[in-house]
Amino acid sequence: MMKVLHYPHPILKHKCKPVQTINQLLRDRIAEMFQLMYENEGVGLAANQVGLPFQLLVMNPEADPEKKEAELVLINPVIMKRNGKIEDNEGCLSFPGIHANVVRAEKITFEAVTLDGRVERFEWKGHPARIVQHETDHLNGISFVDRLSSGALLEIKQELQDQHTIFEGDRRLGFIPADEEIARQIAELERLG
Ligand code: ZN
Repeated sequence: MMKVLHYPHPILKHKCKPVQTINQLLRDRIAEMFQLMYENEGVGLAANQVGLPFQLLVMNPEADPEKKEAELVLINPVIMKRNGKIEDNEGCLSFPGIHANVVRAEKITFEAVTLDGRVERFEWKGHPARIVQHETDHLNGISFVDRLSSGALLEIKQELQDQHTIFEGDRRLGFIPADEEIARQIAELERLG
């Protein structure tokens, strides 16, 4: 059973490995990721947020499970071009309740493999482009708080500290393994694919 992992879980700092094969296991994982994303009212979810160290993200800018046509699965996404800068408010399922303004590129060109195994090129702007940047960052071990100005970071300092406290409490209770065990589990998943 997957669940959304919260900051400061170390997998959020892990650089994910490319997906090697599109098979039923991957499709099952994707279905579960969409389900978790909708349950948590998110617009995007990166694989390492649910404990999978692979270059894979799901998104739906409409955040509406009824709007299947707005769903997108991006495998091994690479942002090739960024144009313009725009600031907007962001949240993240791994940082429940925390919101902050993040400067992102206004327009991006990126390539990704789609579920049918084809490499496609996309040119996006606005909200969907912001989601792709946020989620692709995750896959490279970067969270939105890493992109904040020092002023914006200061404003959410207490909330981040609170998440640390919760995380450490969960770890003491045995809900979260030690860092070495998490690293071992990640390596095992990477080996099995
Ligand atoms: Zn996020």
